[in-house]
Amino acid sequence: MSELRQDRTTGRWVIIAPRRGTRPGGKLETQRRAHDVAHDRASCPFCPGHEAELPGIVAETPAAGAPGWSVRVVPNKFPALQPQATLEAPSSDDHRTRAGRGIHEVVIESPRHDADLASMTAPERLAVVSMYRQRSRELLAQDGIETVVLFRNRGSRAGASQDHPHAQIVALDLVPPRLTALIETGLRHFQREGRCATCAELDVDRHDGRRVVEDSAHFVALVAFAAEHPFELWIVPKRHRASFTDIDDGELGDLGEILGRSLRRLSAALNDPSYRLVVDSAPKSGIAAPHLHWRLRIVPETVAWGGFELGAEMAINPSRPEDDAAALRAARAGDDEKA
Ligand SMILES: [Zn+2]
Ligand SMILES: [Zn+2]
Repeated sequence: MSELRQDRTTGRWVIIAPRRGTRPGGKLETQRRAHDVAHDRASCPFCPGHEAELPGIVAETPAAGAPGWSVRVVPNKFPALQPQATLEAPSSDDHRTRAGRGIHEVVIESPRHDADLASMTAPERLAVVSMYRQRSRELLAQDGIETVVLFRNRGSRAGASQDHPHAQIVALDLVPPRLTALIETGLRHFQREGRCATCAELDVDRHDGRRVVEDSAHFVALVAFAAEHPFELWIVPKRHRASFTDIDDGELGDLGEILGRSLRRLSAALNDPSYRLVVDSAPKSGIAAPHLHWRLRIVPETVAWGGFELGAEMAINPSRPEDDAAALRAARAGDDEKA
Protein backbone atom coordinates (compact mmCIF):
# COMPACT_ATOMS: atom_id res chain seq x y z
CA MET A 1 0.00 0.00 0.00
CA SER A 2 1.34 3.41 -0.91
CA GLU A 3 1.42 6.26 1.54
CA LEU A 4 2.08 9.99 1.18
CA ARG A 5 4.31 11.53 3.83
CA GLN A 6 5.40 15.10 4.43
CA ASP A 7 8.79 16.06 5.79
CA ARG A 8 8.06 18.64 8.45
CA THR A 9 11.46 20.30 8.01
CA THR A 10 11.29 20.81 4.23
CA GLY A 11 7.54 20.74 3.67
CA ARG A 12 8.16 18.31 0.79
CA TRP A 13 5.82 15.40 0.18
CA VAL A 14 7.05 11.98 -0.82
CA ILE A 15 5.27 8.83 -2.02
CA ILE A 16 6.34 5.78 -0.04
CA ALA A 17 5.57 2.88 -2.38
CA PRO A 18 7.33 -0.25 -1.10
CA ARG A 19 5.68 -2.59 -3.62
CA ARG A 20 7.36 -0.78 -6.50
CA GLY A 21 10.60 -2.33 -5.34
CA THR A 22 9.26 -5.75 -6.35
CA ARG A 23 8.32 -4.84 -9.92
CA PRO A 24 10.60 -6.15 -12.69
CA GLY A 25 13.77 -4.12 -12.71
CA GLY A 26 12.60 -2.33 -9.60
CA LYS A 27 15.06 -3.89 -7.17
CA LEU A 28 17.38 -1.52 -5.37
CA GLU A 29 20.63 -1.35 -7.25
CA THR A 30 22.84 -2.19 -4.36
CA GLN A 31 25.18 -4.72 -5.89
CA ARG A 32 27.48 -2.27 -7.60
CA ARG A 33 30.31 -1.23 -5.40
CA ALA A 34 31.42 2.35 -5.03
CA HIS A 35 35.00 1.53 -5.89
CA ASP A 36 34.68 1.68 -9.64
CA VAL A 37 36.50 4.97 -10.12
CA ALA A 38 39.94 4.69 -11.69
CA HIS A 39 42.42 3.50 -9.10
CA ASP A 40 45.50 4.95 -10.67
CA ARG A 41 47.66 6.35 -7.89
CA ALA A 42 50.39 7.34 -10.31
CA SER A 43 48.10 9.97 -11.80
CA CYS A 44 46.26 10.90 -8.59
CA PRO A 45 46.77 14.62 -7.86
CA PHE A 46 45.74 14.15 -4.21
CA CYS A 47 48.48 11.64 -3.35
CA PRO A 48 51.63 12.93 -1.57
CA GLY A 49 54.39 13.80 -4.04
CA HIS A 50 51.98 15.26 -6.61
CA GLU A 51 51.79 18.72 -5.05
CA ALA A 52 52.90 20.31 -8.34
CA GLU A 53 49.52 19.34 -9.79
CA LEU A 54 47.61 21.17 -7.05
CA PRO A 55 46.62 24.82 -7.53
CA GLY A 56 47.86 25.56 -4.00
CA ILE A 57 47.35 24.51 -0.40
CA VAL A 58 44.80 26.44 1.67
CA ALA A 59 45.06 24.60 4.99
CA GLU A 60 46.72 21.53 6.38
CA THR A 61 46.59 19.38 9.51
CA PRO A 62 49.98 17.89 10.38
CA ALA A 63 50.09 14.15 10.87
CA ALA A 64 50.13 13.13 14.54
CA GLY A 65 53.58 11.99 15.64
CA ALA A 66 54.90 11.60 12.08
CA PRO A 67 56.14 13.79 9.26
CA GLY A 68 53.66 14.92 6.64
CA TRP A 69 50.00 15.78 6.83
CA SER A 70 46.75 14.04 7.69
CA VAL A 71 44.19 16.39 6.11
CA ARG A 72 44.79 19.02 3.45
CA VAL A 73 42.55 21.62 1.82
CA VAL A 74 43.22 22.80 -1.73
CA PRO A 75 41.36 25.01 -4.21
CA ASN A 76 39.29 22.98 -6.67
CA LYS A 77 41.19 22.82 -9.94
CA PHE A 78 37.91 22.96 -11.87
CA PRO A 79 35.86 25.31 -9.67
CA ALA A 80 32.14 25.75 -10.16
CA LEU A 81 32.55 29.34 -8.91
CA GLN A 82 35.48 31.74 -8.59
CA PRO A 83 36.20 34.53 -6.09
CA GLN A 84 36.93 37.18 -8.72
CA ALA A 85 34.28 36.23 -11.26
CA THR A 86 32.70 39.02 -13.27
CA LEU A 87 30.02 38.95 -15.93
CA GLU A 88 31.35 39.10 -19.46
CA ALA A 89 28.18 40.74 -20.69
CA PRO A 90 26.23 42.31 -17.84
CA SER A 91 22.50 42.00 -18.36
CA SER A 92 20.75 45.27 -18.92
CA ASP A 93 17.05 44.79 -18.48
CA ASP A 94 16.64 42.20 -15.76
CA HIS A 95 18.32 40.62 -12.75
CA ARG A 96 18.50 37.08 -14.00
CA THR A 97 22.23 36.87 -14.47
CA ARG A 98 24.98 37.51 -11.99
CA ALA A 99 28.67 36.76 -11.76
CA GLY A 100 29.54 33.19 -10.78
CA ARG A 101 31.26 34.38 -7.63
CA GLY A 102 32.19 32.04 -4.82
CA ILE A 103 34.84 29.67 -3.53
CA HIS A 104 35.23 25.98 -4.31
CA GLU A 105 37.64 23.89 -2.24
CA VAL A 106 38.57 20.23 -1.87
CA VAL A 107 39.25 18.62 1.51
CA ILE A 108 41.72 15.78 0.91
CA GLU A 109 40.82 13.56 3.83
CA SER A 110 43.95 11.43 4.02
CA PRO A 111 47.38 11.07 2.41
CA ARG A 112 46.46 7.39 1.89
CA HIS A 113 44.90 6.83 -1.52
CA ASP A 114 42.93 3.81 -0.33
CA ALA A 115 41.80 5.23 3.02
CA ASP A 116 38.06 5.22 3.57
CA LEU A 117 36.13 7.70 5.71
CA ALA A 118 34.01 4.79 6.97
CA SER A 119 36.89 2.75 8.33
CA MET A 120 39.88 5.05 8.88
CA THR A 121 41.19 5.32 12.45
CA ALA A 122 39.17 7.38 14.92
CA PRO A 123 41.90 10.10 15.20
CA GLU A 124 42.08 10.31 11.39
CA ARG A 125 38.33 10.79 11.09
CA LEU A 126 38.36 13.35 13.89
CA ALA A 127 40.99 15.32 11.95
CA VAL A 128 38.68 15.23 8.91
CA VAL A 129 35.56 16.51 10.69
CA SER A 130 37.70 19.12 12.50
CA MET A 131 38.84 20.40 9.12
CA TYR A 132 35.22 20.43 7.90
CA ARG A 133 34.43 22.72 10.83
CA GLN A 134 37.54 24.87 10.44
CA ARG A 135 37.05 25.63 6.74
CA SER A 136 33.29 26.05 7.13
CA ARG A 137 33.92 28.67 9.82
CA GLU A 138 36.68 30.43 7.88
CA LEU A 139 34.73 30.55 4.63
CA LEU A 140 31.47 31.67 6.24
CA ALA A 141 33.37 34.51 7.96
CA GLN A 142 34.58 35.91 4.63
CA ASP A 143 33.05 39.10 3.29
CA GLY A 144 30.51 38.46 0.57
CA ILE A 145 29.99 34.82 1.50
CA GLU A 146 26.46 33.98 2.64
CA THR A 147 26.29 30.16 2.55
CA VAL A 148 28.75 27.28 2.84
CA VAL A 149 27.76 23.92 1.35
CA LEU A 150 29.90 20.99 2.49
CA PHE A 151 29.45 17.77 0.55
CA ARG A 152 31.06 14.51 -0.37
CA ASN A 153 30.50 12.36 -3.46
CA ARG A 154 31.69 8.81 -3.05
CA GLY A 155 31.89 6.45 -6.00
CA SER A 156 31.39 7.18 -9.67
CA ARG A 157 27.63 6.75 -9.43
CA ALA A 158 27.58 9.69 -7.02
CA GLY A 159 29.63 11.80 -9.39
CA ALA A 160 33.07 11.39 -7.83
CA SER A 161 35.87 11.83 -10.33
CA GLN A 162 38.68 10.95 -7.91
CA ASP A 163 38.90 7.77 -5.88
CA HIS A 164 41.19 9.36 -3.29
CA PRO A 165 39.02 10.17 -0.25
CA HIS A 166 37.91 13.78 -0.37
CA ALA A 167 35.04 16.16 0.36
CA GLN A 168 34.24 19.50 -1.23
CA ILE A 169 33.12 22.88 0.02
CA VAL A 170 31.35 25.48 -2.08
CA ALA A 171 30.93 28.94 -0.56
CA LEU A 172 28.21 31.05 -2.18
CA ASP A 173 27.24 34.72 -2.12
CA LEU A 174 23.56 33.74 -1.96
CA VAL A 175 21.19 31.37 -0.14
CA PRO A 176 20.40 28.43 -2.45
CA PRO A 177 16.76 27.37 -3.05
CA ARG A 178 16.76 24.21 -0.94
CA LEU A 179 18.06 26.11 2.08
CA THR A 180 15.56 28.92 1.47
CA ALA A 181 12.75 26.34 1.50
CA LEU A 182 14.13 24.82 4.70
CA ILE A 183 14.22 28.25 6.34
CA GLU A 184 10.71 29.21 5.23
CA THR A 185 9.21 25.87 6.28
CA GLY A 186 11.10 26.01 9.58
CA LEU A 187 9.89 29.53 10.27
CA ARG A 188 6.26 28.64 9.57
CA HIS A 189 6.53 25.60 11.88
CA PHE A 190 8.16 27.73 14.58
CA GLN A 191 5.45 30.40 14.37
CA ARG A 192 2.70 27.77 14.51
CA GLU A 193 4.12 25.37 17.12
CA GLY A 194 6.54 27.58 19.05
CA ARG A 195 9.48 25.26 18.50
CA CYS A 196 11.94 24.01 15.92
CA ALA A 197 10.58 21.41 13.47
CA THR A 198 13.71 19.26 13.71
CA CYS A 199 13.70 19.29 17.53
CA ALA A 200 10.04 18.20 17.32
CA GLU A 201 10.87 15.52 14.76
CA LEU A 202 13.73 14.21 16.93
CA ASP A 203 11.35 13.81 19.89
CA VAL A 204 8.85 11.90 17.76
CA ASP A 205 11.50 9.68 16.17
CA ARG A 206 13.26 8.84 19.42
CA HIS A 207 9.96 8.08 21.15
CA ASP A 208 8.80 5.94 18.22
CA GLY A 209 12.19 4.28 17.78
CA ARG A 210 11.47 2.48 14.50
CA ARG A 211 13.47 4.87 12.31
CA VAL A 212 16.40 5.35 14.70
CA VAL A 213 19.65 3.67 13.67
CA GLU A 214 22.07 5.07 16.26
CA ASP A 215 21.53 7.19 19.38
CA SER A 216 24.79 8.58 20.78
CA ALA A 217 25.63 11.18 23.42
CA HIS A 218 25.13 14.14 21.08
CA PHE A 219 23.55 12.79 17.88
CA VAL A 220 20.79 10.62 16.50
CA ALA A 221 21.26 8.79 13.20
CA LEU A 222 17.88 8.04 11.66
CA VAL A 223 16.11 7.27 8.42
CA ALA A 224 13.89 10.27 7.83
CA PHE A 225 10.12 9.82 8.26
CA ALA A 226 9.54 11.14 4.73
CA ALA A 227 12.85 10.02 3.20
CA GLU A 228 12.97 10.78 -0.51
CA HIS A 229 15.51 8.03 -1.17
CA PRO A 230 15.89 4.46 0.13
CA PHE A 231 18.26 4.32 3.12
CA GLU A 232 18.53 8.14 3.27
CA LEU A 233 20.28 8.60 6.58
CA TRP A 234 20.30 11.78 8.65
CA ILE A 235 22.73 12.48 11.47
CA VAL A 236 21.05 15.13 13.62
CA PRO A 237 22.58 16.94 16.62
CA LYS A 238 20.48 16.73 19.79
CA ARG A 239 21.47 20.27 20.79
CA HIS A 240 19.58 22.86 18.79
CA ARG A 241 21.98 24.85 16.66
CA ALA A 242 21.29 26.35 13.26
CA SER A 243 24.83 26.17 11.96
CA PHE A 244 27.32 23.32 11.74
CA THR A 245 30.00 25.92 12.48
CA ASP A 246 28.67 26.04 16.08
CA ILE A 247 29.51 22.39 16.77
CA ASP A 248 31.66 22.14 19.92
CA ASP A 249 34.64 19.87 20.55
CA GLY A 250 32.66 17.22 22.42
CA GLU A 251 30.08 17.03 19.64
CA LEU A 252 32.81 16.93 17.00
CA GLY A 253 34.39 13.82 18.53
CA ASP A 254 30.98 12.16 18.79
CA LEU A 255 30.18 13.11 15.17
CA GLY A 256 33.34 11.38 13.96
CA GLU A 257 32.30 8.19 15.72
CA ILE A 258 28.64 8.12 14.71
CA LEU A 259 29.59 9.02 11.14
CA GLY A 260 32.02 6.11 10.97
CA ARG A 261 29.50 3.64 12.39
CA SER A 262 26.69 4.92 10.15
CA LEU A 263 28.81 4.67 6.99
CA ARG A 264 29.92 1.15 7.92
CA ARG A 265 26.30 0.10 8.48
CA LEU A 266 25.37 1.51 5.05
CA SER A 267 28.31 -0.27 3.48
CA ALA A 268 27.33 -3.58 5.07
CA ALA A 269 23.62 -3.23 4.26
CA LEU A 270 24.04 -2.07 0.65
CA ASN A 271 27.34 -3.64 -0.39
CA ASP A 272 29.54 -0.53 -0.32
CA PRO A 273 27.23 1.82 -2.23
CA SER A 274 28.11 5.06 -3.96
CA TYR A 275 26.62 7.88 -1.90
CA ARG A 276 26.30 11.63 -1.61
CA LEU A 277 26.74 13.30 1.75
CA VAL A 278 25.76 16.90 2.48
CA VAL A 279 25.60 19.15 5.51
CA ASP A 280 22.48 21.33 5.72
CA SER A 281 23.57 24.40 7.69
CA ALA A 282 22.32 27.93 8.23
CA PRO A 283 23.43 30.81 6.04
CA LYS A 284 25.32 33.68 7.70
CA SER A 285 22.11 35.64 8.18
CA GLY A 286 20.44 32.75 10.05
CA ILE A 287 23.29 31.53 12.18
CA ALA A 288 21.34 31.90 15.45
CA ALA A 289 17.90 31.04 14.05
CA PRO A 290 15.62 29.20 16.48
CA HIS A 291 13.75 27.66 13.54
CA LEU A 292 16.72 26.13 11.71
CA HIS A 293 18.58 23.00 12.86
CA TRP A 294 21.70 21.77 11.06
CA ARG A 295 22.11 18.13 10.06
CA LEU A 296 24.19 15.84 7.93
CA ARG A 297 22.44 13.76 5.26
CA ILE A 298 23.78 10.68 3.49
CA VAL A 299 21.97 9.54 0.35
CA PRO A 300 23.11 6.19 -1.11
CA GLU A 301 22.72 5.92 -4.87
CA THR A 302 20.08 3.22 -5.24
CA VAL A 303 17.28 4.22 -7.59
CA ALA A 304 17.49 6.83 -10.32
CA TRP A 305 14.82 9.50 -10.32
CA GLY A 306 12.53 9.29 -13.35
CA GLY A 307 10.10 11.50 -15.21
CA PHE A 308 7.56 11.68 -12.41
CA GLU A 309 10.13 13.13 -10.04
CA LEU A 310 11.27 15.53 -12.75
CA GLY A 311 7.72 16.66 -13.42
CA ALA A 312 6.27 16.66 -9.93
CA GLU A 313 9.39 17.46 -7.88
CA MET A 314 8.08 14.75 -5.63
CA ALA A 315 9.96 11.55 -4.94
CA ILE A 316 8.67 7.99 -5.10
CA ASN A 317 10.58 6.05 -2.47
CA PRO A 318 10.22 2.30 -3.13
CA SER A 319 11.39 1.49 0.37
CA ARG A 320 9.74 2.03 3.77
CA PRO A 321 11.92 4.18 6.06
CA GLU A 322 11.09 1.90 9.04
CA ASP A 323 12.28 -1.18 7.10
CA ASP A 324 15.47 0.58 5.97
CA ALA A 325 16.25 1.62 9.55
CA ALA A 326 15.71 -1.96 10.76
CA ALA A 327 18.09 -3.22 8.06
CA LEU A 328 20.70 -0.66 9.10
CA ARG A 329 20.35 -1.54 12.77
CA ALA A 330 20.84 -5.22 11.85
CA ALA A 331 23.90 -4.43 9.69
CA ARG A 332 27.34 -4.59 11.24
CA ALA A 333 28.64 -1.24 12.52
CA GLY A 334 32.13 -2.77 12.61
CA ASP A 335 35.20 -1.08 14.05
CA ASP A 336 37.59 1.69 13.10
CA GLU A 337 40.98 0.74 11.76
CA LYS A 338 43.53 0.56 14.54
CA ALA A 339 46.08 3.35 14.59
ZN1 LIG B 1 45.57 9.40 -4.36
ZN1 LIG C 1 16.05 22.37 16.69
